Amino acid sequence: MEIERLLAPNPGLFTGPGTNTYVVRSDAAALIVDPGPVDSSHSKAILEAVAANSVLGILVTHSHPDHAPLANPLGRDLGVPVYGYEPGPQFDPDVRVSDDDQISVGADQLTVLYTPGHSGDHLCFLAGDVLFTGDHIMGGSTVVVEDMVAYLGSLRRLGEISLRRLYPGHGPIMDDPYAVIDEYISHRLEREEQIIAALAAGAGTVGAVVEEVYADVDPALHPLAAHSVAAHLNKLVAEERASFDSPADELWGALVRLIGAPS
Ligand SMILES: [Zn+2]
Repeated sequence: MEIERLLAPNPGLFTGPGTNTYVVRSDAAALIVDPGPVDSSHSKAILEAVAANSVLGILVTHSHPDHAPLANPLGRDLGVPVYGYEPGPQFDPDVRVSDDDQISVGADQLTVLYTPGHSGDHLCFLAGDVLFTGDHIMGGSTVVVEDMVAYLGSLRRLGEISLRRLYPGHGPIMDDPYAVIDEYISHRLEREEQIIAALAAGAGTVGAVVEEVYADVDPALHPLAAHSVAAHLNKLVAEERASFDSPADELWGALVRLIGAPS
C-alpha cells in the first residue's frame, strides 16, 4: 500500500496549512480520502494523481465544509461511489458505512471506525497499522469538540488499537500515535480542571469561562472554543457536577454554575 498526500489550497485559522487529501494505492487500485472543499485546482490535482489508477471510491471522514463538499462532484467525474457515515451539508454519501465495515483497495482493506466527538458523523479509516484520523486528531493542534464524552471514548478506543502512524486531516503526519493520543486525553482533562477552576472563581457564563481558560489562545478562535467549553459543560452536567442551560442561539451568554456553589 502506498499513501500520497495532496494539500488543498484552503489554509486558514481553522484549517492550518489546509485540508490533507490522501490517495491510498494498492496495486493499480486507489481510494481517495477527504477530497476537501470544492476547488478546481485541487480537483485537477487529485485527478492527475489518480490518472494511472483504477479509482474504487471516495471516503469522507465527516461532513464539515473543509473535508466533504468536493466528494460528490469528484465521485460523479470519476464514476465512483462516495462513502460516509450520513448525509450532511453539501454531502450525500452513495454508501453509508459505520463501525467495522471494510472497504477494499487492491490487496488491502480499510476498516471503518466510528469515532464521534469532533462531530456526530466522524469516521476514521484504519489501513493495517496506519490510521486516517480526519479531524478526530490533527497534526500540531487540538480540535474543537462537539460531544466530550463521546470524544474521550473515541480517543481511548484508538489507544487500544495497534498503530504506527497517523494521517490527520490537517497538519503533519505523526509517527508517535500513542504519545499524541495520551497528550490529547490529558489536554482535555486539563481543560476540564481549568473550567471547573474558572467556575469556582466566579465565571458565570460560557463566554467568561472561555476568556479565562483560553486566555492563551487567539481571541479570533474564542467563538469556536465556546463549543468545546459547551462540550465540557455538558459532560459535567451529565456527571451532575455543573448546571448549564445550553441555548442553541446564544451560547456565549449561556449561564453556568458549579453544583453546590452559591448562585
Ligand atoms: Zn471538522
